Amino acid sequence: MKGYVHSLQSLGTVDGPGVRSVVFLEGCPLRCVYCQNPDTWEFDTAHLTEADDLVKRLLRFYPFIKNGGVTFSGGEPCVQAEFVLEVTKALKKQGLHVALDTSGCVWNEAVERLLEQVDLVLLDVKMLREEDYRKFTGASLADTLFFLNKLSEMQKDTRIRHVVVPGISNGEEDMAALARLVREHPCVKKVELLPFRNLCIEKYEMLGLPFSLKDTPLPSEEDMRRLEKLLDGYLQKT
Ligand code: SF4
Repeated sequence: MKGYVHSLQSLGTVDGPGVRSVVFLEGCPLRCVYCQNPDTWEFDTAHLTEADDLVKRLLRFYPFIKNGGVTFSGGEPCVQAEFVLEVTKALKKQGLHVALDTSGCVWNEAVERLLEQVDLVLLDVKMLREEDYRKFTGASLADTLFFLNKLSEMQKDTRIRHVVVPGISNGEEDMAALARLVREHPCVKKVELLPFRNLCIEKYEMLGLPFSLKDTPLPSEEDMRRLEKLLDGYLQKT
């Protein structure tokens, strides 16, 4: 089976436990205003890759990632769930830990089978209110919440990730809502706040796309620490 693979990152340390290879898949139904990878939104036929070839490329990193693993990211990896599932099964046979980085916007039978195989889900909860989710991603928070409920039913090890964008997703009520999600879903073992970055500006320029957050300030380390403390406070209360 073939899939659209945008690129590989060989030794990542932020997308799951330990040192990991990260596979960026193509195709995404969302259009997040802060997206760092707009070059993964569409399928590029030049990037069609055989599942076996991808597995071989990933296993070259085996000595480095045997204590970490492989993370599928994107784009939205669930768009190509069958392909990711085939690669995942081969990696699991080699004893590798597999994580899935997803917005939870796609649900179908192939996604369910994929979730049964992966060890960890990094669920990106982009916005905490439906109107914000629609405005800043073009999709619905309801899909992510449905996905999270499924993860709970499956008791799948889950980390929630939330990108902090000043003025958009950094409110006190956002931290309270994140803590509520943890309380309501025991499968969630960790919440990670990620700072908004704008290193993608050149990509948008090259693609001829507007980057509407180009004048948005980056959160400072102090901002991040304050929000982490706030979130911790809400989590303690839960
Ligand atoms: S889900 Fe990810 S890849 Fe898709 S638009 Fe949002 S940030 Fe970009």
